[in-house]
Amino acid sequence: MHIRRNDVVEIVTGAEKGRRGRVLQVMESKNKVVVEGVRQVWKHVRPSQKNQRGGRIQIELPIDASNVMLTCPNRECKRFEKTVRVASKTGGDGSKQRVCRVCGAEIPKVL
Ligand SMILES: [Zn+2]
Repeated sequence: MHIRRNDVVEIVTGAEKGRRGRVLQVMESKNKVVVEGVRQVWKHVRPSQKNQRGGRIQIELPIDASNVMLTCPNRECKRFEKTVRVASKTGGDGSKQRVCRVCGAEIPKVL
C-alpha cells in the first residue's frame, strides 16, 4: 500500500467517486484507509465521562485502499493534481520514495 497518513487522496470508485480528503488512518493489515469526510455515518453513543450527554457523533468508516488514489504534485506533469498510479523507488540514502508513474516525480510524505 502506498497510502500514508495525512495524504490527500481521491476516491476513484463508488458513490463518493471524485471526492478528495485527507487520510486520517491507515489500516495496513486490512488494506483499508479512513478518509476525512468520506463514508461518514452517525454513531449513537451512550453518555460517558467524556461525553456526558451521549447522543450522536459523526465518524468515518474505513474504505478499501484500492478505492483511493494519490495525485501528482508535479506542476510539469500532465497528470498534475490528477490521480496517478504510484511506484516505489529507493532513494540515494536508501530510503523508500513514492514516485508518480507518469513523470517520475517524488510524492512527498505529509507530516
Ligand atoms: Zn506526475
